[in-house]
Amino acid sequence: MDYSKILDTIQLKLKNHIPTGKVATYIPELAKIPGDKLGMHLYCINSGHYNFGDAHERFSIQSISKVFSLTLAMNTIGNDVFKRVDVEPSGNPFNSLIQLEYENGIPRNPFINAGALLIADILVSHLKNPKQELLQFIRTISGIDSITSNSTVASSEKKHSNRNAALLHLMKSFGNIENDIDKVLDLYVFQCAIEMSCQELAQAFMLYANEGVSIQNQQQIIAKRTVKRINAIMQTCGFYDEAGEFSFRVGLPGKSGVGGGIVAIHPNQYSTAVWSPKLNPKGNSELGMMALEELTTLTGLSIF
Ligand code: GLU
Repeated sequence: MDYSKILDTIQLKLKNHIPTGKVATYIPELAKIPGDKLGMHLYCINSGHYNFGDAHERFSIQSISKVFSLTLAMNTIGNDVFKRVDVEPSGNPFNSLIQLEYENGIPRNPFINAGALLIADILVSHLKNPKQELLQFIRTISGIDSITSNSTVASSEKKHSNRNAALLHLMKSFGNIENDIDKVLDLYVFQCAIEMSCQELAQAFMLYANEGVSIQNQQQIIAKRTVKRINAIMQTCGFYDEAGEFSFRVGLPGKSGVGGGIVAIHPNQYSTAVWSPKLNPKGNSELGMMALEELTTLTGLSIF
């Protein structure tokens, strides 16, 4: 497969498309990011790295961090995670309160905000230093020690987190949150404000493409069964209330974030990340979705 040529074709197609989407503004620090940033990185198990554009520039990974925190929680307490959070697509916006009320404080899945806040609560309960341990986990799986969280972005989000605090209060009223709300929120905004480039994300997500085995040293870092489950949740719940559309158009497990990043993996083939900050009305990167749709179209390969 000539991946270099495929990425050239994708880049050209994206350059000729004027996005109508908007950069996220509800976290003021994110509103400052230039909307015309565009990068893509593809990391193939057999043939290595390919990229274009701003693939090496770090951006706010936001909800992509929910995959890492879920993995760490599953590595810490195993399937007990799923006694407190479900694994069904929500069909609702990422920060919706409605479903949580009539489903008795049990979030639909770990990738909507309620679910990720609950996972943060698990990490606060079980880890001595959850922020550092989460960061260390990401550094280990990506092989990049300089990855860090942007404290300006974290505090900008914290100042505007009434809705996330409301989700936590509602879950706590049902007895499904164990810790102090501010402490949980603090970890949550820390993880969302982690900054990584497309290349770094593709390196970290290689583990999910490679059955939990590190491509660098062939060590099993996450159990194969855990990877299978996380990939299944990415497939069904990774794109807010557009997971069906992403499956339909792209056909890969993936996760997006309001910073404009999208990661996707093709099991046993590759991991890939795209960044373009302009979001469609459902909160997914407009050009990112288009790039990944082109990738599976031009390669003729998806998981289906
Ligand atoms: N920190 C963001 C929030 O909670 C994450 C949203 C996202 O990327 O989906 O609103």
